[in-house]
Amino acid sequence: MRPKLVVGNWKMNGSRANNATLLAGIVEGLGQGKAQAAVCVPAPYLQQCADTLAGSELAWGAQDVSIHASGAYTGEVAASMLSDFGCRYVIVGHSERRAYHGETDQQVAQKAVAALNAGLTPIVCVGETLDQREAGQTNVVVNKQLSAVLELLDGAAVQRIVVAYEPVWAIGTGKTATPAMAQEVHAELRSQLRARSLDAGEKVAILYGGSMKPDNAAELMAQADIDGGLIGGAALKAADFLAIINAA
Ligand code: PEP
Repeated sequence: MRPKLVVGNWKMNGSRANNATLLAGIVEGLGQGKAQAAVCVPAPYLQQCADTLAGSELAWGAQDVSIHASGAYTGEVAASMLSDFGCRYVIVGHSERRAYHGETDQQVAQKAVAALNAGLTPIVCVGETLDQREAGQTNVVVNKQLSAVLELLDGAAVQRIVVAYEPVWAIGTGKTATPAMAQEVHAELRSQLRARSLDAGEKVAILYGGSMKPDNAAELMAQADIDGGLIGGAALKAADFLAIINAA
């Protein structure tokens, strides 16, 4: 059985003072041996995470990474720098990066490779827009997004990624995919992984993201192919984030 993983995506939220309260609240409430948990924070707060969370059960990570290893790329952050700050995870291809920064499937794939090369676990986000869902294109869209990543990885590397299915219409909107809708796409993604590598099909965690909250988390994560959650808004309150972790 795959262990459950719950990851908070803080997006561009936080301050040193608020983070200190939030991180302390999460660490204090984390039970032993339950789901694995992590927070993906804005890059300036990685040092604060390293200082606060080292030795705790809560892992941390970033929300984006450069495709380049180093050099003249102003504003970019290299995967090796994230490793330097103790990150375990980095989100790649979040729909906000695809929509507002024009990230292509190929760039997302290169980011996943950069992360793996630095020993990080990339959380590869895929998901359809409402128009694409209504046009019956959901599987085509997510298969294409994931296959760009799979094409660049060998079987062993595929086993080291995490996938997050995040329907774009459900992110930050309060609209959640029903457990059945989400499970259908997760099963599709799992068979795509399995076709690439049987082991990857069994081992890779596929998280659901999109308005996951304490009151819908248990039912979503009870689905056979939903291995946890990528949580936006509800990750900013310790009580809500802990309730989701406990529901896993
Ligand atoms: C996200 O940004 O990855 C996300 C799932 O956000 P929310 O939980 O707020 O919908």
